[in-house]
Amino acid sequence: MTIFALFLAAPATVAARTVAVTVDDLPFVGPSPRDKRTVVANMRKLVTQVRQVGAPVVGFVVGRRRGDYDALAMWRDAQLPFGNHTFSHRRYSKTPIDRFILDATKNEDIVRRRLGVELRGGWFRYPYLDHGHTAEKLAAMTAYLKKGRYRHAPVSLATRDYSFNAFYARTTDPAVRQRIAAWYVEHVIECTKHVESLSRTLYGREIPLVLLVHANPLNADHLRKVIDVLKSRGYTTVSLEVALADKAYTDFGLSPPYLPLIRDRNFLNQVAASRGMKVADPAGSDHFRETWRPKLERLAADRR
Ligand SMILES: [Zn+2]
Repeated sequence: MTIFALFLAAPATVAARTVAVTVDDLPFVGPSPRDKRTVVANMRKLVTQVRQVGAPVVGFVVGRRRGDYDALAMWRDAQLPFGNHTFSHRRYSKTPIDRFILDATKNEDIVRRRLGVELRGGWFRYPYLDHGHTAEKLAAMTAYLKKGRYRHAPVSLATRDYSFNAFYARTTDPAVRQRIAAWYVEHVIECTKHVESLSRTLYGREIPLVLLVHANPLNADHLRKVIDVLKSRGYTTVSLEVALADKAYTDFGLSPPYLPLIRDRNFLNQVAASRGMKVADPAGSDHFRETWRPKLERLAADRR
């Protein structure tokens, strides 16, 4: 058999789907009471879930709370990487640039002092994914990121995990919690289908995805289910470095100037907007308000 014949006989290869998992707002975010015991217990569960992802998961830390360092130390001790998400999670577009940079630097200082971890040289993610800017702010931010050897970490698979968590964290009823977790996973699937299809439209292929989830009770209990459902769609988990090495991201997104800021801040939505396309993202507030909120409210009311 010639080499050519061998080539013809090879089965058609399907491009492998890959996803990098990232967790924002470490150590803890949500409406639940955030006493030290709750935060530590939540982190213990979250680290267990994250360890089963099968690739390094970057945790974007917000260092503002004094009592939280024991929980953050658990992430560090599990050999999981940290990214800088600023000290107090201010909105970039609404904060004077010198204050914003001071806040990001304060996060580096406190994480270095309290955890012995260096954030510089790693990943930076804007709170609320808000990188709205003026030319002046952009110049200052570019200099800050360059000096700190940071790479910007965009998100291409965002969900409303925080809205589901708002209902989840309010109840301790196991049946209600299971129902909410199942709906959350359904919602992850609809968001994934949206970005897969958008990626094919924009790039003619599916680019590696960067999933954002929050450090909340819902993910501390159920992140594994989210990863399993992605794996069942053919995804392999990879590191953020590997996902963001794709040309789609290295062309835009890793350093300023970024894509134009729009309401639904997922990277692919921004690429679409930059090409004049309008997309309806199931992770957007309209879809949640129309589809999921009424179901979640009914569920909460039935149990009262
Ligand atoms: Zn955040």
